[in-house]
Amino acid sequence: MGRIVVVTSGKGGTGKSTVCAGLAYALARQGRRILLIDGDAGLRSLDLMLGVGSNTVYDMADVFAGRCKPIKAIYASPVSQNVFVMPAPLSLEQLCSPQELHRLAKGLSRYFDVVIVDCPAGVGRGFETAIAAAAEALVVCTPDMVCARDARLLSDILAARSIPARLIINRLRPRKIMDGSMPDIDRIIDESALQLMGVIPEDETVAVANANGRPLPLDCNAALCFSNIARRFVGETVLLAPLEKM
Ligand code: ADP
Ligand code: MG
Repeated sequence: MGRIVVVTSGKGGTGKSTVCAGLAYALARQGRRILLIDGDAGLRSLDLMLGVGSNTVYDMADVFAGRCKPIKAIYASPVSQNVFVMPAPLSLEQLCSPQELHRLAKGLSRYFDVVIVDCPAGVGRGFETAIAAAAEALVVCTPDMVCARDARLLSDILAARSIPARLIINRLRPRKIMDGSMPDIDRIIDESALQLMGVIPEDETVAVANANGRPLPLDCNAALCFSNIARRFVGETVLLAPLEKM
C-alpha cells in the first residue's frame, strides 16, 4: 500500500499545487510511482501544471458517476513515466463525499508508492473531502505571519483528526529575510507549530514551469529544494541549505 498524503493550506495561492507537482517529479526521480489526485474541484490546476490538460476526457466526477473506471480518469505525465494525475471535477457540486474519496485513494494506493491529494484553500467542504483520504499532511505556507497563523489553525484541525502534518515554506526570499523585511524561517515554524519539511525559494523558473506544464529544470535552486523535500519525505536526514545559497 502506498502512502497517502494531502497537501493543504489555509490561504489560497500559497503554492499547494506547485508543491504537489514538484514533490511528485522529485519522488519519481527516486524511482517511485506517484499518483496525484486533484481535489481542488472547480479550479483543477494539476492537469495543466503536468502538461496533460488538453488530453483529458474523464475526471474524478466521471468515476463517481459510474461513467468510467478510475484507470480511465488517470493520465500519465508526458515527461515522467512515474507520475500520473487524476483531474478534479469541473465544479464543487460534482465533488464526491469524504468517504468516497477515502475509498478511492485507498484502493488506488495499491498501485502507487505515493498518492498525493491536492487540496483547495481553506477548511471548507473540499478540504474535508481531501483530508479524509490522507494518513499524513503537508501544510504549505508563505513566509508571512498571516499565512503562518492560518497554518497553525490547520495544524490544530489536523492534530484533532490524528493526521500528522509537516510544514513547507514556499516563496522564500532569502535576501528579504537577511535584511529583516521578511519573517525568518524560525518565526514561521514557531507560529505554525509544525515541524519543518522543507523550504522552496521564490523563483521565476517555478512560475514558468507551471505555466508551460513542464517540470522544473534540474539545475535550478527550487528543483534542488524539491529533491531535498522528497528525500526527507522518505526518511533521509537532509540539512537545510544556508539562506545565502538558496
Ligand atoms: P495554490 O495551489 O496554493 O493555489 P499554486 O501552486 O497554484 O497555488 O501557485 C500560485 C501561483 O504562484 C502560481 O502562478 C505559481 O506558478 C506561483 N508560484 C508558486 N510557488 C512559486 C515559487 N516558489 N516561485 C514563484 N512562483 C511560484
Ligand atoms: Mg491549487
